[in-house]
Formats: sequence, C-alpha cells, structure tokens
Amino acid sequence: MDKVYHRGGWIKVVTGPMFSGKTTEIIHHAQEATGNGEKVKAFKHFQDTRCSPNRIGSHDHVFWKAVSVRASSEILDLIESDTQMVAIDEGHFFEDGFPPLLTDICETLRKKGIKVIVAGCDLDFRVEPFHQMALLQRLAEQVIQLKARCTICGALAEYTQRLTDKQPSQYDETRFKVGSSDIYEPHCKNCHVVPNKPPGKRLVALAPNEDISPPPR
Ligand SMILES: [Zn+2]
Repeated sequence: MDKVYHRGGWIKVVTGPMFSGKTTEIIHHAQEATGNGEKVKAFKHFQDTRCSPNRIGSHDHVFWKAVSVRASSEILDLIESDTQMVAIDEGHFFEDGFPPLLTDICETLRKKGIKVIVAGCDLDFRVEPFHQMALLQRLAEQVIQLKARCTICGALAEYTQRLTDKQPSQYDETRFKVGSSDIYEPHCKNCHVVPNKPPGKRLVALAPNEDISPPPR
C-alpha cells in the first residue's frame, strides 16, 4: 500500500454553475485552514481576468491572494516545502490537452500530503462536461455540488446560460469566454436554452479536443 496517502492529503472539488458560490466556498476553506495555522497557497488561471491577477474573488466580494499560472504544471514549482493546502479557482480553465493535466497535478499534491481544493464549473454553457473537472470529481475524496438560483424562474439552477448580445449563445460559439453577469446567468434545466444544439448531443465525458459526437452504438 502506498503509505503517502496516510500523511493527510486529500482532494476536494467544489462544482456547480456560475454564481453558485464556488469561489466563496474555497476561500472559506482557505480561511479555516489559515486559522488552524496551516500554510495555504491559492492559484488561478491567467485567463481568468475578472479580478486582479494576484487574487481570487467571489461575486459577493470575498477575496484571497492567489498566483496566476498559465498551466497547471506551474503549480508544482510554485508551492513551498511547508505548503499544507493548495486552492485552485476556476479549475475548468485548466482544460489543456497537454500532460501533466490538472488531475495529475492534484494527485501529485495529494501524494505529498497536501490538501487540495478545486473550484470549477462541471458543465459548459452547452451543458457538456469539462473533462478535467469530471475526472477530478471521480478522484476526489469529497465533492461539494452547489446550485444557484435561476434568473428566469427562481428555481434551483444547475446550468450556466451564456448570452450573446443579450440573447442565448449559439451552440457553436467559442467554448471559453471570460465574463460575469454581463454574459452569464444561472438557469434551471427548464429555462436553459442552447440554440442550434444538434439533436443527440448527450452528456459524455470527453478527452480534450475530442469530437463531441455521441459514441457509436
Ligand atoms: Zn428557471
């Protein structure tokens, strides 16, 4: 048995649509760990430009200092020998197709005895999974699934609606687009709309850049 797993490392995933409180949740974990005397290091993807490059912030204006990285592989070089918790915000931005992948990095940190908490959307605006987040959920010791409030009907919202010129974005629009409430809204399953989504597109776990057609029967 690999004894490194007994040194206290774990992976926790906080997921759900935009505006569900994911960043607030990982900041609370960071605050709690710091309060217990643990050393915490937080990271974000450099393309996440919604607040300053050296901090993560929630929609309810809770902030924590963070380091911007271009790839998840940079995280291993930036942690210190006494780092006890690593918090990663917007994990779905690390959907890069080049190893080591985000899941590899998180597993390496866990094996070092580090507590890893990752916040990120599980589904894109087309309601198709982010591959690394899906994998992480399978590998994590704990998954916290959050929901938001649908801006249309007020029901619990599991999906993220993208807007283009205030109208629902088309299926074939670019997958990654940085924005906040100007172009994103949480929607429930009934109110979520993806114009021109081809019939037969289902929720399947995909390798990055893989064709999104359903698997052959
Ligand atoms: Zn709704």
